[in-house]
Amino acid sequence: MSAYVETTYDRCPFNCAECGGAVWLLARSGRTCSYKGERPFTVPAALAIPTCDDCDAEWIDDEIASVLDEACAAQEGGVR
Ligand SMILES: [Zn+2]
Repeated sequence: MSAYVETTYDRCPFNCAECGGAVWLLARSGRTCSYKGERPFTVPAALAIPTCDDCDAEWIDDEIASVLDEACAAQEGGVR
């Protein structure tokens, strides 16, 4: 296993809609994402996603969604 990497960037200007906790821009390794109901894929470790400090909910906007889309497509290896 590779070393666990976690980098916190800035406090996001909103709170978690799930639990009201603080949301931070967080980049870390070892995340997976199941996007649009497809099978899970690895989220790029360098990608900062607004993540709730309390419940780990991830708040993905259009820009992040497009990056995830590309990562998903790359890992699918062109199936589809
Ligand atoms: Zn939360």
